[in-house]
Amino acid sequence: MSSLLPTYARMGVGFVRGSGSHLYDSINTKYLDFGSGIAVNCLGHCHPKLVSSLKEQSSILWHTSNMYQIPGQEKLANRLRDLTFADSMFFTNSGAEAVECAIKMTRRYHYANGQPEKFRIITFKGSFHGRTLSTIAAGGSEKLTKGFGPKVDGFDVLPFFTNMKKVEGHITTETAAIMIEPIQGEGGIRSVTKKNLVALRELADKHNILLIYDEIQCGIGRTGKLFCHEHAGVTPDIMPIAKGIGGGFPLGACLAKNSIAKHMTLGTHGSTYGGNPLAMAMGNAVLDVLEEESILNNVKNMSAKLKVELINLSKKYPELIDEVRGLGLMLGIKLQRDPKEFIAQAFENKLLVVGASENTIRILPPLNITSEDIKEAITKLNKTCIDELKKNKAI
Ligand SMILES: *Cc1c(COP(=O)(O)O)cnc(C)c1O
Repeated sequence: MSSLLPTYARMGVGFVRGSGSHLYDSINTKYLDFGSGIAVNCLGHCHPKLVSSLKEQSSILWHTSNMYQIPGQEKLANRLRDLTFADSMFFTNSGAEAVECAIKMTRRYHYANGQPEKFRIITFKGSFHGRTLSTIAAGGSEKLTKGFGPKVDGFDVLPFFTNMKKVEGHITTETAAIMIEPIQGEGGIRSVTKKNLVALRELADKHNILLIYDEIQCGIGRTGKLFCHEHAGVTPDIMPIAKGIGGGFPLGACLAKNSIAKHMTLGTHGSTYGGNPLAMAMGNAVLDVLEEESILNNVKNMSAKLKVELINLSKKYPELIDEVRGLGLMLGIKLQRDPKEFIAQAFENKLLVVGASENTIRILPPLNITSEDIKEAITKLNKTCIDELKKNKAI
């Protein structure tokens, strides 16, 4: 019996090494990694700049404490501030902690403004905000919450409306905020349209409630803009981020406007590890490479190619593929049925992709992929489609 909690259905492989878009197992079999550890390794495996930054920082200083100044924290925060709507932020070790911080900030904001009764947050079916008690309540699905009651109170999980104006009917005197992923990741690469992102912004303003965009998966260049909401030209009040910002090092942040952040006064929140020098070196190095290597441009160019190729596959195999969805390098292939087998077959063909709800396979390659990587992926996906069709016929 394994000495690990049996919470994961792990594939029968343990990788020992990674380089760029590829991973290698113990007998040196090479896999193309188009899952990036679920949108985490945004610069692929062992990017030389990340390796040298980690080596350098690890020989100088790892951890002190938030009891002391951390220059790397000031630097990364200033950079993210200059790149976004935000004035202020708090660094965490994970996405769930960043969402947790967003929830606390929301409650504290209304409390400080004399409206402590406003604590409920509207969220949406199919969303994923993490695995802590409050973030599973925010996601709301039975899959996340069953057996972990009593549920943390304060979340109203609405259907994923095609017309987000319908949200208005669910806003009450207790509503504190609306929280949404601009593109649902775990939910199956379901995009909120630009129009709907704008509609939610207008609703939040009209009712004096906060708007939270969870950009943990869709942020950090994944969609071709640094943050996904930039496509819609509207900004949130609070934004949890994680995954890509650490490039593989555990790092998250909760960004906010000053009108909210200022209420997180001395002693109201904390973290032992959050924003430690090692994590800050990695966050800063990721931003350096995004700039130095024009990664956003690469996302635009490569995603255009990749999407065309995927759409071609969907036309070639309509009995398998329902549609191709998503933006930038956050793409989904919606299959006609449960994608488990397809993912296993892709794995047999040495291609790593990630499952999601709605019969969808997530394609989340590193943001610095090349045309060769795309060619390799399409060859492997094509073979996987053929293999799957053969299997189905055999049944
Ligand atoms: C992954 C993810 C989280 C949770 O992040 P963890 O680091 O696993 O806690 C939250 N929200 C979204 C949108 C995510 O994709």
